[in-house]
Amino acid sequence: MSGQEDEEFHWSYDGDTGPEHWPEHYPYCGGQSQSPIDLYDGTPETEWNPFLFMHYDVTPTTVKVTNNGHEAMVTMDMPKRPYVLGGNLDGEYVFDQLHFHWGSIDSVGSEHSIRHNSYPCEAHLLHYKKVYNDSGTATLYEDGLAVLGVLFTISEEDNPALAGLITGLASVTQPDQEVTIQPIPLSTFLPNNRNKFYRYEGSLTTPPCNEVVVWTIFNHKLSISAAQMAAFRNLEDDHGHTLVDHYRPLQPLGTRRVS
Ligand SMILES: [Zn+2]
Repeated sequence: MSGQEDEEFHWSYDGDTGPEHWPEHYPYCGGQSQSPIDLYDGTPETEWNPFLFMHYDVTPTTVKVTNNGHEAMVTMDMPKRPYVLGGNLDGEYVFDQLHFHWGSIDSVGSEHSIRHNSYPCEAHLLHYKKVYNDSGTATLYEDGLAVLGVLFTISEEDNPALAGLITGLASVTQPDQEVTIQPIPLSTFLPNNRNKFYRYEGSLTTPPCNEVVVWTIFNHKLSISAAQMAAFRNLEDDHGHTLVDHYRPLQPLGTRRVS
């Protein structure tokens, strides 16, 4: 995604290629405005300028689920690309892709935590600023990306909205596998209440860790059952291991503020 890419270094989440070694190969990963963080001081009850989610309820023509070896990713072909504005964002941000981070057990998995509470799964809806035309170009600008983070909590019943995704995961247990699933609108992956959220400025949570992300973490969570979580935990990564616990450790807040 940028000139910082190091082709020889296959980064991972532990050992010699784990997060503490990322800065040796990707200098941005050693920066002062990194993600994720613990959302401790933020007050999601703050009155924000409301978000406007454009085309999020349109049924896509195609929805694909991919195991890219690092995470499960969802991409969509749409007659009109969804974009978001408002929510105290500066300008319009166009949807690119969404992906998930999850844990081996329910007490870990999310990248962000709220007052030191972690969650079993976190979805990242990645958007690039419209004026930069694509996500690759946008990573060169400090206001280039807006990522919407959605946390999950475990429910007794399956979340029916996730059924197609969960079925698709069974077809992408190996890295580089991809499957087309029943089209579902992007709004499926947002909580119904989107008025309360945390906001801060940070980075990509994977190499090259560019500090170009306006982060939004919604206070309201989506539900997922234990059986549905199990489908995520059947995937394998590109090191031949079970694809779980692929969350970056918390980074220092430094001089930043969480709103
Ligand atoms: Zn992510």
